[in-house]
Amino acid sequence: MNENKQNLLKTLPQIDKLVKETSLRYQEISVLEIKQACQQALSSIRQEILSDQLTSVTVSDIFEKINTCLTTEPDYHLTSVINATGTILHTNLGRSLLSKKVRNHLNDVAYHYCNLEYDVNEGKRGSRYQHLTEIVKDLTGAEDVLVVNNNAAAIMLALRAIANDKEIIVSRGELVEIGGSFRIPEVIKLSGGTLVEVGTTNKTHLTDYKQAITENTGALLKVHTSNYRLIGFTEQPSLEEMASLAKQKQLPLVNDLGSGLFFDLQKFGLPYEPTIQEALSKGCDIVTFSGDKLLGGPQAGIIVGKREWIEKMRQDQLLRALRVDKLTLAALEATFMLYQNKEQAFANIPTLKMISKDLTICHEEASQLKKAIDDKTIGFRAQIVPSKSNIGGGSFPEEEMNSVAISLSSDNYSLIELEEKLRKGSIPIISRIYQNQLLLDCRTIDPSEHQLILNELITLQGANE
Ligand SMILES: *Cc1c(COP(=O)(O)O)cnc(C)c1O
Repeated sequence: MNENKQNLLKTLPQIDKLVKETSLRYQEISVLEIKQACQQALSSIRQEILSDQLTSVTVSDIFEKINTCLTTEPDYHLTSVINATGTILHTNLGRSLLSKKVRNHLNDVAYHYCNLEYDVNEGKRGSRYQHLTEIVKDLTGAEDVLVVNNNAAAIMLALRAIANDKEIIVSRGELVEIGGSFRIPEVIKLSGGTLVEVGTTNKTHLTDYKQAITENTGALLKVHTSNYRLIGFTEQPSLEEMASLAKQKQLPLVNDLGSGLFFDLQKFGLPYEPTIQEALSKGCDIVTFSGDKLLGGPQAGIIVGKREWIEKMRQDQLLRALRVDKLTLAALEATFMLYQNKEQAFANIPTLKMISKDLTICHEEASQLKKAIDDKTIGFRAQIVPSKSNIGGGSFPEEEMNSVAISLSSDNYSLIELEEKLRKGSIPIISRIYQNQLLLDCRTIDPSEHQLILNELITLQGANE
């Protein structure tokens, strides 16, 4: 071996020192992974020196190599994408994003044993359903809580417990279909209850409910018409009126609220919708909602309300089939923790953060992205344009929020081609074409994703050279 090669090999850092320095740069990655990456990087550099591919090595060469080892991911089928559509709760793109504050807790529970069904104080078997009880009771004022796989499961379990073999009265204006396969009449049938429709599509009066009540009635069901809205000549009795009727007839009132609102969002330009606390305080016996809509947590169905009914749901064999796993419970508890303080919730829960993102902030972020595209890429034109975002996920139908987008075009690709190229890149960027413009909506793009978008554009321009 010639002297130069030997000297070069000697200049390579000691593994321990390298691991220490690398750990400082990548604080989120475990030491074990860093050690493996350092070993892999050093051995590949040694090989390259020995085979004359490298004749000099700088510190930054070494770190670049380590970075490649650390960031090379297997080719997963389910992968992250950049949501540039402006639809916040995009069901096809996974609805809510979890807060980064949830991440540490998820890691902790996922990579260690946990007290999922173990009562640490008593030293004996516990229940997985206990972990969320106190916090959700505190936040909502409910007597009891149960969490299942999704809101469809929640409503089905609730109706089985309350009105199995009995009649369930629902307004014709609320017999909705949500998200393709969730249909209220079908869910009632599956629960073992019998649907009794009252009123008409646009108008249902309290007397319609009153007249339909017989000795076979098991419950009154109110369904939030999340994904469509009746406008014009319409009427539905208020929650208070329904609650008072239910109470008078000694029947439970079940409310499928759908989206899981804890704070009023009217000041962000959205219409009135009851919060969970409100629905309970106005007299609903059982309220169900999703974990991954406006709540901004993991997919789950949350049932809150009267203890006697929830206890009955706990005894149902079906609960075993609908049960949530430890990761869902961990993510949900950590999300609810953030709800203990309103500012904290809006600052950390991505769904709430995007809904409350000020238009001036959207504009600033769009300007940064435009500047970066102008400065760092060739052959692309970026223009800042007003745009409309929406909430999506079957929440707040047709309500659009003002937003700001980048209208992107290219010298080399048509809009249709560009949309496809962005979608099929190494990190799929999901954009939309609207009125002959390809829009990247800044309400749903996090500024931390700007660099990834730039990288994709640079790759695209390279592919065209
Ligand atoms: C979204 C929604 C559902 C279905 O909830 P999933 O969590 O998706 O199962 C049911 N009811 C209403 C009113 C909804 O808005």
